[in-house]
Amino acid sequence: MIERPAHKTTGGAAIRLDAVRFDYGDMAMRFDLAIEPSSIATIIGPSGAGKSTVLNLIAGFESPLSGRILIDNEDMTNVDPSRRPVSMVFQDNNLFAHLDVAANVGLGRKPGLRLDEADQSAIHDAIVKVGLAGKEKRKPQALSGGERQRVAIARALVRNRPVLLLDEAFASLGPALRQEMLDLIGQLQGDTGMTIVMVTHHPEEALRLPSILFFLENGHVAASGPARDLLSDRGPSLLRKYLGSQELSL
Ligand code: ADP
Repeated sequence: MIERPAHKTTGGAAIRLDAVRFDYGDMAMRFDLAIEPSSIATIIGPSGAGKSTVLNLIAGFESPLSGRILIDNEDMTNVDPSRRPVSMVFQDNNLFAHLDVAANVGLGRKPGLRLDEADQSAIHDAIVKVGLAGKEKRKPQALSGGERQRVAIARALVRNRPVLLLDEAFASLGPALRQEMLDLIGQLQGDTGMTIVMVTHHPEEALRLPSILFFLENGHVAASGPARDLLSDRGPSLLRKYLGSQELSL
């Protein structure tokens, strides 16, 4: 078998939610969806539709009442989050204020930060990839909002998992920065072949990268397909209604 360097991902994994039922009490949710390996999926929909819940189910932070979650064709339904081939980046990037960029990234590799040479090399590579070379020793407060999200992405990269989940990861950034971050995600996806699933409040983000769109409403997938088709004038009426008069050009 050919050994790959520890910090290179081996491509993406397919994701499937098969009749996954879940509820927090009030709203019954049921998700059926399939995401191709090495593709980009964008999840949109009204607030409370279940977008974050889908990510939490894939990551294992929530467990279905019934149904199955498959990642890379393996049943992950009852697998602990730490053992799933998944990384997640949140809007609030969870950086530690007292640790510098390199250490914050290193936490993705080993929580105890007992880092060997391979770890250091993976951390260095990830920092370069997200465009933060030269800023390794900075503390989070000495970084811009966009740079802090780059650290969070680098931390996800060093985990070397074939699935990256982004939960409104760029929501607190202005439009120009959000575009920049999406371009970075597109570039990283091209380099690594990761499968990317991103939840966003900005449907136009689904057009920036070639993505498959999942439109959620009331706890289920109400429409899905290539974003370019779904978000066009010929898209389904329920999407046109949701989008209203929003201008979608980025
Ligand atoms: P979205 O991401 O689309 O805004 P969520 O997945 O966060 O939607 O939420 C789906 C539904 O579950 C909503 O009705 C929401 O109020 C409810 N919900 C989400 N998280 C919790 C929670 N931790 N406890 C109770 N209800 C929750």
